[in-house]
Parts: sequence; C-alpha cells; structure tokens
Amino acid sequence: MGRFLKILISADMEGATGVTWPADVLPGTPQWERCRALFTSDVNAAVLGFYDGGADEVLINEAHWSMRNLLLERLDSRAQMLTGRHKSLSMVEGVQHGDVDAIAFVGYHTAAGTEGVLAHTYLANSITGVWLNGKRASEGLLNAHVVAEYGVPVVLVTGDDLTCVDADGYAPAARKVAVKDHVSRYAAVCRTPERTAADIRSAAKEAAALAHRHEPVDGGPFTVDLEFDAAHLADASTVVPGVAPSGERRVSYTSPTMYEAIRTFKAVTTIASSAVEEQYG
Ligand SMILES: [Zn+2]
Repeated sequence: MGRFLKILISADMEGATGVTWPADVLPGTPQWERCRALFTSDVNAAVLGFYDGGADEVLINEAHWSMRNLLLERLDSRAQMLTGRHKSLSMVEGVQHGDVDAIAFVGYHTAAGTEGVLAHTYLANSITGVWLNGKRASEGLLNAHVVAEYGVPVVLVTGDDLTCVDADGYAPAARKVAVKDHVSRYAAVCRTPERTAADIRSAAKEAAALAHRHEPVDGGPFTVDLEFDAAHLADASTVVPGVAPSGERRVSYTSPTMYEAIRTFKAVTTIASSAVEEQYG
C-alpha cells in the first residue's frame, strides 16, 4: 500500500538527552562515552517512531563534531547510518538525491549568541553570531533552508525547550520534543532516557504523517553574515571568494542558492578554525 517513504535523520549531539556540558560532547572524554549512549537512544527512538508511522527506509546522518559518535550496534536493524566527515552537504548530507520525503533534526540546539544549552552555530567558541538574510540563524534554520531547496520538509526536531521554540520559527508544522529544559548554557532539567525515548518515538510516528516532498523552494538570493569573537578570524575568512568584511569582526557574502551558501559557509568556518591559535584564540 502507498508510496515508498524515506526519512533522513540529521543527528547532532548538544541537544541530546542528559547533555549539558562540553565534556559530554567532546569525543574521547569519559563523559562523551557515556553520553553517546544517550544520544544513540534518542536517535534510535526516532528511527522506531518513523517505522511505526510507516517509513520504508530511515537513513541517519551523523552531524556532530567528527561525525562518529553514534553506536551503530545499538540501532534498530532496519536503519542505516552515514558516519564520518567531509560530506558535500555536511549536516544534511543525503538529502540531495531526490529520494528523501522528510528530515528530522535530532539533538539540535539554539544559535550562537542566544540562550540555550551549549548554544552555538558550527564553531563552538569563535562564531558569536550568524544571520541569514538578516535573521539570527541556528544550524536548524540554515539546514531547513538547504533542505527546502530539495523540497524536503523538516517534520521532527528534538533538543532543549529553547531549540523547540527556535524550530517553531523555521518549521512550524514539525513535531517537537524537548528532552530537557534550559536553565543556563551549561545546565538543564533533564528527563530520563526512558522517558525521552518514549516521547521521541511517539512524536516521530506522528511526524511520519507529515512526510510529503513538495516543490523545491527557490528562496534566494541568500546573504549570510558571520560575526567572530576576534578580528583576525574575520580577516582570515575573507580569502574565500565572495566573502567580504562587513564590520568589526564581521564578514558577509551572498549566494544565489542555499546549496552554495552552505558550502561557502563550510569554507569560511574551515578557514576561520584554522586561524584559531590554541592559547590566544
Ligand atoms: Zn550543532
């Protein structure tokens, strides 16, 4: 019965159950070893919920740090996982092949310069703000614009409570699950993995009903403004063609499509992070 339904899950870690502190998400630390199991539990709950809701295929794209955090051996055997880094579309890799009906943002977080647990936009320290066409941009907002160009709706977002509020702005129809309530950048009231898995699974089941590819959205041009915490990072990033200084510690560029905008963004962040010195920033 019905059409074939494929769901892509973009899985980030700062918004996972129980995560509130840098060591929780920093590969190699004992806390990360513990939290990756919690992260895997959130993602697997989404997998189960999407299959409950009628999905035929679920692909998980790892989107945190080195992009090797999830425990493959604990995932439902029907799912597949794209792990590792250097992917053309980074956090939403896999959306570009014309076969994805919907995307879920699991473990997402709020934007650099705003409130929220471990809030940042791509670079945890160096970027203090990103704006897309003048609007403060979280990773969720940027990636929602990328996937819209492929006609793919965002149907589920999980993270802290403020991440859900942020998602109301870029994906109003999506189901949202707050796995924790923000108290400060490094503190949250956390619900147990058993509880959040149940919440995510039932939300994903409902979200599967929202999975309908639409006409690709051509919303360009897109102007991206980035603000860094130091002038030399802004200066370094202007070696990327089209990227120009636009104020103190700020650069700006304009791209005709989000596909190009997000790829330029990746080039800027790569150059900027290579210009960060360990002791003096
Ligand atoms: Zn992130």
